[in-house]
Amino acid sequence: MDKFGELDRSYIMSLIRSKNTKPEELVRKWLFSKGFRYRKNVKKLPGCPDIVLPKYRTVIFINGCFWHMHINCPSNHIPKTNREFWEKKLSRNQLRDSENLFELEKLGWNVIVVWECGLTKKRRDGTLEALEKDIVSNRDHKSILSLPSHSTTSRPLSQP
Ligand code: ZN
Repeated sequence: MDKFGELDRSYIMSLIRSKNTKPEELVRKWLFSKGFRYRKNVKKLPGCPDIVLPKYRTVIFINGCFWHMHINCPSNHIPKTNREFWEKKLSRNQLRDSENLFELEKLGWNVIVVWECGLTKKRRDGTLEALEKDIVSNRDHKSILSLPSHSTTSRPLSQP
């Protein structure tokens, strides 16, 4: 018997992502079509941001809801077996994320997190629209935005 049950294994395998996975490519292609020019996977910056827009002093992370523990997100469920293992592992990820965001802020970067659940066919248009608005206006310079946000503590992006 291996460490994970069969069900768990296939669930986990489906979540494992490599660089240039679909959601990242989707956002990059869209940005490019809008005339944004970016650099990708910039290792020199904390957390190796997926997308860097030097002109707007903005970095974008495309985060998987599972690996990065999207708060109150329906796509973020910890597997029932080996729960303790996953909780430990995932909270380490979360800690590292917040350290990276903090460092980036200190360096004066506008940080935007786009969550994978915001890129489903249904929600994609709204998410990308909000993303563009934020990049262009950069009105929340030095704040961390999350798209979409399920958390009541962070400010919703597009409110009248
Ligand atoms: Zn999510």
